[in-house]
Amino acid sequence: MITAIYPGSFDPVTLGHLNIIKRAANAFDQVIVCVMVNSAKSGTFSPEERVDFLRRTIHLDNVEIDMHTGLLADYARKKGARVLVKGLRAVSDFEAEVQMAVVNSSLNPELDTMFFPSGQKYSYLSSTVVKELARYSANLTEVLPREIIEDVKMKMEIKRGECDGK
Ligand code: ADP
Repeated sequence: MITAIYPGSFDPVTLGHLNIIKRAANAFDQVIVCVMVNSAKSGTFSPEERVDFLRRTIHLDNVEIDMHTGLLADYARKKGARVLVKGLRAVSDFEAEVQMAVVNSSLNPELDTMFFPSGQKYSYLSSTVVKELARYSANLTEVLPREIIEDVKMKMEIKRGECDGK
């Protein structure tokens, strides 16, 4: 049985992430989507909100959602996972991702990283782009799972109000 971990910030989950999750769920027996909590980076949504968005969006029997603070290599060992899943968008993702793959394998030699090329429609999609669109009330149906569109819009419009009001 092969368990794979798909780690990321998911701040918030986009259709680009979802595309990778569905493909990973087809390729591996079990996939754990893990919100990595970075104490140095607070993010727009709290880790709990990001987990909630993922849970509301993903309904696949072999996918579970979790969060973790600390080293991914340790988390993988605890979960008995041998594979890390990463999505690759433009060439710009490549260097940082390969560097991280080397670090993770040196911390946990059982662990290997497998890359999925981004779905064609999503190669320029990031959570940052989605938040920028939401801030200005753009149509989000092509970029966000429908279950979370209203919540993301609301938060970003409030943030915009706070900035404009200053
Ligand atoms: P970001 O904040 O850059 O959107 P995350 O940390 O949430 O990214 O991303 C988690 C993982 O998902 C990374 O491996 C990243 O390369 C990948 N990813 C993010 N967006 C996409 C996308 N549109 N298509 C494919 N992979 C993606």
